[in-house]
Amino acid sequence: MKAAVFHGPGVVKVEDIPVPDIGVDELLVAVRAASICGTDLRIAEHGHFKLPDGRHRVLGHETAGVVVEVGPQARGFAPGDRVSITPNIGCGHCRFCRRGLNNMCPDYEAFGITIDGGFEEYLRVPGHALQRGNVFRLPDNVSFATAALLEPFSCCLRGQHVLDVGRDDIVVIVGAGPIGIFHTLLAKLSGAAKVIVANRSPQRLDRAREAGADVTVLTSRENLEEVVMEQSAGRGADVVLTCVSDPAVQTQAVTLLATHGRLNFFSGLGRGAGAQIDTNRVHYRGLVLTGTTGSSNSDYERSLALVTEGRVDLSRFISRTFDIEQIGEAMEHASSGAGMKAMVTFPEEPARLGERHRKGGVDE
Ligand SMILES: [Zn+2]
Ligand SMILES: [Zn+2]
Repeated sequence: MKAAVFHGPGVVKVEDIPVPDIGVDELLVAVRAASICGTDLRIAEHGHFKLPDGRHRVLGHETAGVVVEVGPQARGFAPGDRVSITPNIGCGHCRFCRRGLNNMCPDYEAFGITIDGGFEEYLRVPGHALQRGNVFRLPDNVSFATAALLEPFSCCLRGQHVLDVGRDDIVVIVGAGPIGIFHTLLAKLSGAAKVIVANRSPQRLDRAREAGADVTVLTSRENLEEVVMEQSAGRGADVVLTCVSDPAVQTQAVTLLATHGRLNFFSGLGRGAGAQIDTNRVHYRGLVLTGTTGSSNSDYERSLALVTEGRVDLSRFISRTFDIEQIGEAMEHASSGAGMKAMVTFPEEPARLGERHRKGGVDE
């Protein structure tokens, strides 16, 4: 089967590798859609602390497909089921896992990092992923491509849940990449009084308006702080989300907040980078600063419900689709700053599994 394999920083190759064999409690999923995430780009370029030197890994963690093989002890799924898979598998017994926060588990495993991910024709789903609720059955009205986008969307949902966005809130989102756009959709869904989206380049601000932004700010030309003060009658923003990896943006974000404002440093910074924060402002204005990373399986479930009910349309923000052979181009598109989500799709007829079935596959 074809797979996009990470060999080391800067080296991702499309290769022909064997279709994975599954264990008695595992699933084999024919991948139909896998979107490219900033995390994939970062791993492709710099590696990952959970990926030792020399370890090859199929990247990709925003994945949906069709179950094609089911181990005899794998419960709850059958061949033909349309599914999507959440990437972070918690250990199941730490204090975070016990609270349902598998995204905060210190001993997590993850598709595309510690186990092979979705940029391949067939994905093996380990038994513990199944048992810990990382596999979701998809309703017929949710496409595979939309389902792949549920992962980043669910991370945004977690990010706003902690900010408790409501009807009185003026929300500022800095960065109009896919993450900024998903935050825009969610802030509008929460009924925020006004959503202001800022970005350095103009192309993506069109998409922000499409997503419902009330005001857009081109930060290469306009002064964000001035616009926010003007739009809030001098009060400042109630909620700010930083969705670009830039210490200067984090520093500025604190200055945009109104008294009792809430801030989520949603995008992390590169290793070693840090932002200067005016803590006196935090003190005297009673600001709440937080950050979120990843999403729990329950965030994912709520995201799937929003999409199923038609309350958000994520598919509009897929800017291009690619074959697995074009993974390099797809990654370039994803990092270009011009497009939105790059989606790798796979043909409907899984290519080479028939042969294995004739030889006596697992589910015969
Ligand atoms: Zn992702
Ligand atoms: Zn855990």
